[in-house]
Amino acid sequence: MINAAEIELLQKALSTLAEGFEHLPEFTPGFDEPRLEEVLIEAATRMQDNYPYYHPQYAGQMLKPPHAIARIAYAMSLWVNPNNHALDGSRASSPLEKECIEALGAMYGWQGHLGHLTGGGTMANLEALWIAGRLHPGRRILASAQAHYTHQRISDVLALDFSPVPVDANGRMQVEAIAEQIGKGNVGTIVVTLGNTGYGAVDPLADILPLAQQHGVRVHVDAAYGGYFGLASRLADDVRRHYDCLGDVDSIVVDPHKHGLQPYGCGCILFRDPAVGRIYQHDSPYTYFSSAELHLGEISLECSRAGASAVALWATQQYLPLTAGGEFAGWLDESLLAARDFRQRLEDSSGYTPLLHPELDIVVFAANAGSADECSARAQAIFEAAARQDLHLALIKVPIELARAKLPHLDPNTGAVTCLRSVLMKPEHRDWLEKIMRILEACAAA
Ligand SMILES: *Cc1c(COP(=O)(O)O)cnc(C)c1O
Repeated sequence: MINAAEIELLQKALSTLAEGFEHLPEFTPGFDEPRLEEVLIEAATRMQDNYPYYHPQYAGQMLKPPHAIARIAYAMSLWVNPNNHALDGSRASSPLEKECIEALGAMYGWQGHLGHLTGGGTMANLEALWIAGRLHPGRRILASAQAHYTHQRISDVLALDFSPVPVDANGRMQVEAIAEQIGKGNVGTIVVTLGNTGYGAVDPLADILPLAQQHGVRVHVDAAYGGYFGLASRLADDVRRHYDCLGDVDSIVVDPHKHGLQPYGCGCILFRDPAVGRIYQHDSPYTYFSSAELHLGEISLECSRAGASAVALWATQQYLPLTAGGEFAGWLDESLLAARDFRQRLEDSSGYTPLLHPELDIVVFAANAGSADECSARAQAIFEAAARQDLHLALIKVPIELARAKLPHLDPNTGAVTCLRSVLMKPEHRDWLEKIMRILEACAAA
């Protein structure tokens, strides 16, 4: 689990950091080492009670371990503990954040855009919908019925009406249903999810954009989970074309702490038109202007933000640039291929049926049974049996009509079916599929 070289690298990075402060009169805050050790050992012992998120046999929820460079850079920066609210608190890390934002926007072909890091995707989506509401006051928000659950709640917080849009058999927002909603009037913004959290389904952005443009509706893309996949080379053509028009949307959310190898606390909001910066205007007596430019605290709803997140992301992006054909992109391809391979193995098995076709790296599958409630009970039992063999999966409640699209003979005696779900986010997952399948087959046979 722990590579000793990482600790050594942290030590080296810290020594270099300290050199920058050597001219100061000697001052090192002291501490009670034995007591510290006692409490730390207690904390580490408590932390043993976790699923092994870093291990390829954790193939459940959307949890990807941070890259070593992110972990080390984050830890190193804590000896300064910069606050990326204003430049005074983050002389070095605010410029690093700006470089990160430039590179993230460049993934979508943007230049001169406005954006910043956030605590996560929820905060980033809140900012996007807040701006949307300011630009189209009183107009409705549309999002997929399978969009992240927070969109409805964010709309509620912002006192904006929210209308869910039904999905097709592969979990994608239905364009005809959007057209129908626009026909009813008063739609201000469509939230298009590229990679929804449940199924990894990619909403048909290329077909939604012309409709939105025709009716003066804003398009916000929630790509918190799926935002990096445009770099991959193995997307299916029908998915690729939606990624290819990301440059034309109004705002994008991407979470570096989902697929971007970052520790938690790192989301990102990007606006194509930097003029939205004027909407953030505030007049704080505590925030000092140390530059003529809009500083990050002026274009963020959050005040204090971890400069450590920017340092970690910057180091990661230096080491693994966001380029198509690069190493980072190659890892995303491994995840795409792992999902397809896994789906095929499940299709070939007698115990399981994969449901939707994986567009990214999420595979949802049913445990074969005659009726919906038996199917749910079997999924639950297999989930627990697999965990006892150190294979960790996730469960998801699939609406009965989505399940029946693939399992037409399933007796629909309940409104939703509990199914198994795997997010194959780690580049190593592909090599572990054989082992994973062996455990799954044993669980199905038991
Ligand atoms: C994870 C996720 C969110 C929420 O992001 P947090 O970082 O958990 O706050 C929003 N939308 C999508 C599509 C997500 O996958």
